[in-house]
Amino acid sequence: MGAIGISGLKPKPDMKTTFYLLCALCLSLNVVAQKKQSVPVMTPGKKAVVELVGTQSAKLIDISNQIWSAEETAFEEQASSKLLADYAEANGFKVERGVAEIPTAFVATYGTGSPVIGILGEFDALPGLSQKTVPVKDPLHAGKPGHGCGHNLFGTASLGAAVSIKQMIEQGKLKGTIKFFGTPAEEKFFGKLWMIRSGVFNGVDVMMDWHPGDKTKAAVQTGLALVDFIVEFQGQAAHASSDPWNGRSAGDALELYATGINYLREHIKPTVRIHYHIQDGGQVVNVVPDYSRLWVRVRDSKREGMTEVYERVKKMAEGAAILASVDYKISLVSGVYEVLVNRTGAEYLTKNLELLGPINYTNEEVAFAKKIQETTAKPQDGLHAKVEPLEATDPNAGGGSTDAGDVSWVVPTLRLSVATAPLATPWHSWAVVACGGMSIGHKGMLHASKTLAMTMVDLFEDPKKVEAVKAEFTKGKGDHVYKGLLPDGPPPIGQK
Ligand SMILES: [Zn+2]
Repeated sequence: MGAIGISGLKPKPDMKTTFYLLCALCLSLNVVAQKKQSVPVMTPGKKAVVELVGTQSAKLIDISNQIWSAEETAFEEQASSKLLADYAEANGFKVERGVAEIPTAFVATYGTGSPVIGILGEFDALPGLSQKTVPVKDPLHAGKPGHGCGHNLFGTASLGAAVSIKQMIEQGKLKGTIKFFGTPAEEKFFGKLWMIRSGVFNGVDVMMDWHPGDKTKAAVQTGLALVDFIVEFQGQAAHASSDPWNGRSAGDALELYATGINYLREHIKPTVRIHYHIQDGGQVVNVVPDYSRLWVRVRDSKREGMTEVYERVKKMAEGAAILASVDYKISLVSGVYEVLVNRTGAEYLTKNLELLGPINYTNEEVAFAKKIQETTAKPQDGLHAKVEPLEATDPNAGGGSTDAGDVSWVVPTLRLSVATAPLATPWHSWAVVACGGMSIGHKGMLHASKTLAMTMVDLFEDPKKVEAVKAEFTKGKGDHVYKGLLPDGPPPIGQK
């Protein structure tokens, strides 16, 4: 090629060159043939579920909008849970409501026998993020919650996929059992922990999961393990000026404790995160506070690392209490595992994403996205329409945490991310709420629903694929025995 480019003349090939050229041709034909083999195929079953999600699209958009408008937070998602459970019931699922002692948790089942494929659906909102469907910050109900993580799309897309599989089973095109799990309180408390403890996931062969994001890809990062706990200090109240010597300040203990945590940051691994939220620092300025309370969270990319720092941070509460001459109490809220990634399943998801191709956006949607990026000081790159190739799993990738991590240690779990907001959108923010209530979010939701349904068709139609997913799970889990990080007793419903 180089010689032709330089001289502009085509040299006459001799015998040896001809031989090499033929070899090169054979090699390239072979590569083409191999590539052809790996090109994903839209089978009749996959085509059917894509159409079945399509026929539900108006209803799914309506449900997601109603959940978006309901703005319900952890364990209080009565209307959102009912919307999804009612839709499942109307579609012939057997619905068991209020499982695991959680009024808003439910399981919807259709079919019999193997395989048993489950799918997770979340629907809780985040406090303080209410927002209109406009690309600048403008609360719909000031101070009220909003769907800053896109869970209105999450639960709805998953149920849409489950309903399409149910219809395939009903028509005799697939055999087995489909289970949709309505999983509350992901944003606070981690409701799936109590669902695992109650055994509702027992017997599921493979679990499907997805999450709204700014990119479309199989999700193969582990996220972070975490633990949440409450630290309370109890002292002695006194007049802040006339007799402060009679006071033992719980506020002082709180400040000393928080200061200790912030000094500790220099001596922990870069993968560790520590956050605290002061829930009570005293009531008024002229009283030495006799009570203070913090919600503390420790994360690390691995459960072992998290546990090590958790023990240190717990011990520091005792130190702060000694310094301020007050009592202290530590109460576990809950904690989650990092995700046990299943790359076998991620390959199936990626192939189905490729089959569906990119999400098509209108000029108005791109302009909406760019306005959000302008408002949030991000590059105005618009929306991420294309499918990302399957990426490597980084053992210390960082990011957020999810109670789907715990599920992934109990049942092999296949996870997906689909763009429902512009590239680089700050997550858990008004911008995600805005997109989740309009067509950008709806398109991502329907795309996720189709991809999940297609991947479930893979699993229902080919027992070898189920076995391959399970084999990777068994190997990854090794001899680890799952033990959820949660206190005894019922879920903390109503706890602040
Ligand atoms: Zn989320």
